[in-house]
Amino acid sequence: MFISIRGRVLINVEALNMTESVGNYVKHRKVPVVLPEFNYATYFVPAISGETIAHGYQEKLAEIASKKKLSVCKYCNLGIFLKSTDKEVFKESFGINPPKSEKDIEETIIRNCTVEDIGGFLYAEAPNVNRTSSFFVGYMIPVKESIESVVIESQLHSRYALGTKFVKKRGERRGQMIYYVEISSAPYVFSFDFDSRFVGKYTFVVDEKARNNSIVSNDERRKRIEAALDSIKELLVETCFGAKKTRFLPIISWESIAIAVSKDGVFTVPSSFSVNYIENSINKLDKYNKGTKLFVYINPEVLEDTSEYIKKTTKELIDSFYKYAEEFEKCLKEKDPEAKVDFKKIIRERLESFFERKIEELAASSDLRYVSTIKKKYLKAKEMLEKKGIKVYDKFEECLKDAIEEAKGVYSNDKRLD
Ligand SMILES: [Zn+2]
Repeated sequence: MFISIRGRVLINVEALNMTESVGNYVKHRKVPVVLPEFNYATYFVPAISGETIAHGYQEKLAEIASKKKLSVCKYCNLGIFLKSTDKEVFKESFGINPPKSEKDIEETIIRNCTVEDIGGFLYAEAPNVNRTSSFFVGYMIPVKESIESVVIESQLHSRYALGTKFVKKRGERRGQMIYYVEISSAPYVFSFDFDSRFVGKYTFVVDEKARNNSIVSNDERRKRIEAALDSIKELLVETCFGAKKTRFLPIISWESIAIAVSKDGVFTVPSSFSVNYIENSINKLDKYNKGTKLFVYINPEVLEDTSEYIKKTTKELIDSFYKYAEEFEKCLKEKDPEAKVDFKKIIRERLESFFERKIEELAASSDLRYVSTIKKKYLKAKEMLEKKGIKVYDKFEECLKDAIEEAKGVYSNDKRLD
């Protein structure tokens, strides 16, 4: 079974992946992204690394696997992913000396740690033994349509202990200093794949006999795969990744997600960097279907009619215009109760020019441009999906739950199990 997830998620005011700090200034991770413009233009944009997501995922996996009474080594259980780095770590993690042969080393690690089975490891000793991760994650970068609009801005924070004896004159011991934290806001690209093929099996040794046999029982493999799938669900529903969440808990809203569950090999959902990704998935599915079932969620707010959006904004504009007119009238009457001013006439005259100006501003605003371009693409994707009889979910959690249940079902019917 292969599950591939791509999505677009709006994250406001986040400090999920910080890199170095320079003095009292903590920097957000940034990466270069190239876009074809007149030539090719490079932008430095905020990003959340694949390692950040992998760490969060493996923490969840360790927790869920332990709850299911599956084996997890001492360090992985603590969320410290040293993963059998060397002899000392091996000894501490499993409470035994490392065996001599490559086959026995691989077998011991896989049998005794679900996290290293699924997330891979590197035993950098003689003999060297490694395992490639069965899950794949990438950097979260801002979506293509937003690249020119995303920002990183540093925020000033102070916890100066003013009024206490800890703050003394310049040059002496001081209370806590002021500090800066870079925060970012952007609609991000999300990607995650998981391949159940090698879970609980040998991948390092070339001995054919060993490769044909699983290290753990079929029942144990099933439980490990289910733990991996449940961890994906938790990771996304509860956003279990990223740093600084005690004081920079971000504001998160999923714009869309596409999940492909395949039973006959690898099928990856095309990158969600472009809003065309759902349409691209449908086209790819037509040509390269691997026993794939597609689950798609599109945030209903994105699909709201643009005319509704304008109507709402117009109503707000009228309300604010009348509110200010009333306030103006009230102020003037207070200053000069005898003044003979025809307010109704003034309002009529002004209202027209006010609206002309506001409607122009609204039409030119990037907000509305974003809503309508994105909306158009999503509407097209929705139409294509419905034509193919593929449900478009309007609830994120329901889409995710159904996809994970499908993956579990696909796995339990998988012939490769036996
Ligand atoms: Zn481990």
